[in-house]
Amino acid sequence: MIASFNPATDELLQRFTPYDVNEIERRLAEAAKAQKVWRNMGIQERRPYLQNVAQLLRTHKERYARIITLEMGKPLAEAIGEVEKCALNFEYYAENGASMMADHVMPSSASDSRLVYEPLGLVLAVMPWNYPFWQVMRAAAPILISGNAIVLKHASNVPQCALAMEQLFSQAGLASGLFTALLVGSSEVDRLLADDRISAVTFTGSTPVGRSIAASSGRALKKQVLELGGSDPFVVLADADVEAAANVAVKARFSNTGQSCISAKRFIVEHSIADRFRDAFLEGTLKLVTGDPLQSQSTMGSMARRELRDELHAQVKATIEQGAKLLIGGHAIEGPGAFYEPTILDHVTPAMTAAREETFGPAAAIIRVESAEQAIAVANQTPFGLGAALWTSDPDRARILSRQMDAGAVFINGMVASDPRLPFGGTKQSGYGRELAHLGLHEFTNIKTVWTGPVRT
Ligand code: NAP
Repeated sequence: MIASFNPATDELLQRFTPYDVNEIERRLAEAAKAQKVWRNMGIQERRPYLQNVAQLLRTHKERYARIITLEMGKPLAEAIGEVEKCALNFEYYAENGASMMADHVMPSSASDSRLVYEPLGLVLAVMPWNYPFWQVMRAAAPILISGNAIVLKHASNVPQCALAMEQLFSQAGLASGLFTALLVGSSEVDRLLADDRISAVTFTGSTPVGRSIAASSGRALKKQVLELGGSDPFVVLADADVEAAANVAVKARFSNTGQSCISAKRFIVEHSIADRFRDAFLEGTLKLVTGDPLQSQSTMGSMARRELRDELHAQVKATIEQGAKLLIGGHAIEGPGAFYEPTILDHVTPAMTAAREETFGPAAAIIRVESAEQAIAVANQTPFGLGAALWTSDPDRARILSRQMDAGAVFINGMVASDPRLPFGGTKQSGYGRELAHLGLHEFTNIKTVWTGPVRT
């Protein structure tokens, strides 16, 4: 059974029977057939469908946001923001897809030589629950505009989100099969990866599962984009605007109840300003209101599942036992739901659990360092390399230091965020490949060289 639970109340919302082999086969066949027609349409013909998707998202944003909040517990206002961002992404690719797919002439000795971009076919998307619309929609827009179809295996705790998106694409006029949501457990993924009709996979989720998907798709020689875990550093140097940094730090750590791959997780702060940063960060964190995510006054909702809360709590407890100082929080909130107190740990060292492991929930670790050089060394002292924030008032220093950070993106004097116009992805154990912008679109195309003779003399 695939069950939809409200993590803020523990209430069972709905149960779904996973699709059997016949239903999976029917849907894959339909997807393959629909993609053949879709790929032969011109990109200008595909564009209006993406615009329809964007419009539906905007028109019904409250309805979709409510489904998101009910299934994974984030505050409704954040869920509405998520849906609006999905619309923006579809508008962006509707607007820019044609120029990204345009032939790229490359002078050579031929009469004409160029790159042409062609779709790969069916792209399997294995997705997480933390931004149940955004993670899917950020992949779907470039996949579809370039002439591919998408087969979604969503996280098992957000089946209603998966079905709502499938229905949305149908309402937008896309042929049945171009966006297919398969209600299946994770044990089906290997079989799907081995299916000849699946050409590639985009996976967003944890690093251990990413490894397993990389191995299975590698065996089948399927193209992969892997967006995995992170333990993003948020470096505050002594010359930074400390109060501004602390203010942004609250959002960077606690939005989405701390359950974001690009949440700032390790706050690496130069000693001389560490107390000031701590006080301002604490003051901002104390203003958070944790509660029913459907109520407008709540700025932090529940975590998505109870066992995820238990994992976070174990990491917090271990870090305290290892010598960190608990400034605030540190406990599960009693009663129904998977609520956890916003938590700040100070005097964390790189060897402690909260610095070594990804903490996927509302717990911040402050690490004090002696110099900018040490800050960068500590920032890089992690197996991950997704995003990084760097706060300093010296632009030249920022430019130099940003190039020394092991990350797919460095945000200077700001918080790491995804944006349809900018490539997104990681390095090291945070994965490979890029989403968004033109690079995200080209990931799932065959970049074909076409050479036309005769040779020019
Ligand atoms: P997860 O446990 O890795 O699950 C992600 C997806 O993989 C789900 O659809 C899940 O299905 C499926 N899955 C689980 N085990 C599998 C297996 N053995 N084989 C094939 N598929 C399998 O991750 P999560 O807990 O949902 O999400 C949190 C993680 O995602 C964090 O580590 C976070 O940093 C990362 N993340 C990364 C990004 C990024 O862009 N880099 C963005 C968001 C989240 P079931 O639900 O059915 O198990």
